Amino acid sequence: MVTVNKNYLKLPGSYLFSTIAKKVAAYQREHPRERIIRLGIGDVTQPLAPAIIDSLHKAVDEMAHAETFRGYAPDLGYDFLRNAIAANDYEARGCRISPEEIFVSDGAKSDSGNIQEIFGIDNKVAVCDPVYPVYVDTNVMAGRTGEYNPAHENFDNVIYMPCREENGFLPEFPKETPDLIYLCFPNNPSGAAITKERLQEWVDYANKTGAVIIYDAAYEAYITEENIPHSIYECEGARTCAIELRSFSKNAGFTGVRLGFTVVPKELVRDGVTLHSLWARRHGTKFNGAPYIVQRAGEAVYSQEGKAQLKTQIDYYMRNAKVIYEGLKNAGYSVSGGVNAPYIWLKTPDNMTSWEFFDYLLDKAHVVGTPGSGFGAQGEGFFRLTAFGTYENTVEAIERMAAL
Ligand SMILES: *Cc1c(COP(=O)(O)O)cnc(C)c1O
Repeated sequence: MVTVNKNYLKLPGSYLFSTIAKKVAAYQREHPRERIIRLGIGDVTQPLAPAIIDSLHKAVDEMAHAETFRGYAPDLGYDFLRNAIAANDYEARGCRISPEEIFVSDGAKSDSGNIQEIFGIDNKVAVCDPVYPVYVDTNVMAGRTGEYNPAHENFDNVIYMPCREENGFLPEFPKETPDLIYLCFPNNPSGAAITKERLQEWVDYANKTGAVIIYDAAYEAYITEENIPHSIYECEGARTCAIELRSFSKNAGFTGVRLGFTVVPKELVRDGVTLHSLWARRHGTKFNGAPYIVQRAGEAVYSQEGKAQLKTQIDYYMRNAKVIYEGLKNAGYSVSGGVNAPYIWLKTPDNMTSWEFFDYLLDKAHVVGTPGSGFGAQGEGFFRLTAFGTYENTVEAIERMAAL
């Protein structure tokens, strides 16, 4: 008889965004005249930049002629894109990453979910709390964790590193030594960024203990401060302990187009095996390669026009972030993030729970955000607002909140 992967049954339902949608729909039904403003969006809203659209059109036309038609893409990505990534994202920042160490994919969600497959089932996983849920959930599915523990709102046999106000929303070395350490900076949901010095401490820790860091740099394009690293490979020794995940979703609006990449340095060896060879095997076996058309669009991200146009988009979102951060701070809220990330993390006033504040904000200001508790137990008492709305809506939402 067929059995199923019982590990999947350990996952509690993911109610966060469906609960939000239901609450907002119910409120709108009862208050049809109120104009609700959504500052909870975790998706970009600006259209693809003209340089990217041009590149897409051109690649589509190439597909129409036998001489320029392309079939299956190379498993690991086209050289034109891998070379552009190596030159612009790494060499230009003083990082030694070669094009062969770059694995082009359909995005960082897939890669952050799949990367655990190349590691043994006994490895102990450490994550920040609160955190992007994909890291833990995919390790649960793989059977690397214990049961869900409703009282603590977390899984047994996972090392949670609390990121709270007390530690500046940055993780501290856990008591128990982990094998796999997931770090995401700038962070979703908190918007916290890590300095190069602090990240260097993690790299040193991983090299000393033999752990591997899986570094999610999906938001690096939002960094505005000097001492915040765009890549973990800006740190000394990261080539022997770190895998980096990148995405074109948040820097270039590819959330619907789908493109990302993962870097696995050839010097990263564990258990006598180069992880590069394992990931190449996995990619070649289970991944069909990102579409040619999409990889050409990715190449345009690194063109001179592409860079200029995308900077305008990021600046637009970051102007919203500033409106939120400063508006709420001046109104007496305790806020963080928003300087190197499109997320503002605010402490709920008057000891409200995250969901109480959600209801309060919807009712009194008709503004929608995301309860921090949806990202982990330590997110309780916090609330995420995002900079992905329009400028006009963002200004109005913050005016409404400030007037409460
Ligand atoms: C949005 C996001 C990504 C990007 O995922 P894609 O699959 O590339 O769209 C990765 N990590 C985090 C933490 C994110 O918030």
